[in-house]
Amino acid sequence: MKSDRGSWRPLRRDELRDELVHDTYKSKGKLPEPTRCPDCGVIYSGGRWNWGLAPEGAQEERCPACQRVHDRYPAGYVVLKGEFLAGHRDEVLQLARHREVQERAEHPLERIMAIEDVEGGVQITTTDTHLARNIGEAVQSAYKGDLEYHYNKDENLLRVHWAR
Ligand SMILES: [Zn+2]
Repeated sequence: MKSDRGSWRPLRRDELRDELVHDTYKSKGKLPEPTRCPDCGVIYSGGRWNWGLAPEGAQEERCPACQRVHDRYPAGYVVLKGEFLAGHRDEVLQLARHREVQERAEHPLERIMAIEDVEGGVQITTTDTHLARNIGEAVQSAYKGDLEYHYNKDENLLRVHWAR
């Protein structure tokens, strides 16, 4: 599995803030400005990706989030498990989706890729490590439970495990 490349290590919550870097997945050097992603319409200008209308003459290149979707290569994994989850699955997933909508409005590259059943629970994959962390934090702050982070610095991947 691609996601098992590199080395994984557990991280404490307070270590995360310094470790996580913003996604530059497959970015080929400096992009011309403005550049528009043909898949989602996000615009690169002023050194970052923003939602907006494309100015005339914008270049076209896929943004890192759509590139990850295209390659099916998530940056973040949030695995939710436990008896409480089994009984409150819809509610917990709704919270996760709501968190995505909030984050994505301000940080366009932070998106949920898929929500899938896994053994004993559910897995949410994301295009950015920050969103995985934020979903984990939101779920724990709403429902308590146990939260763990595992980070793969080489590949900039984050796994978040929550159980209750
Ligand atoms: Zn895009």
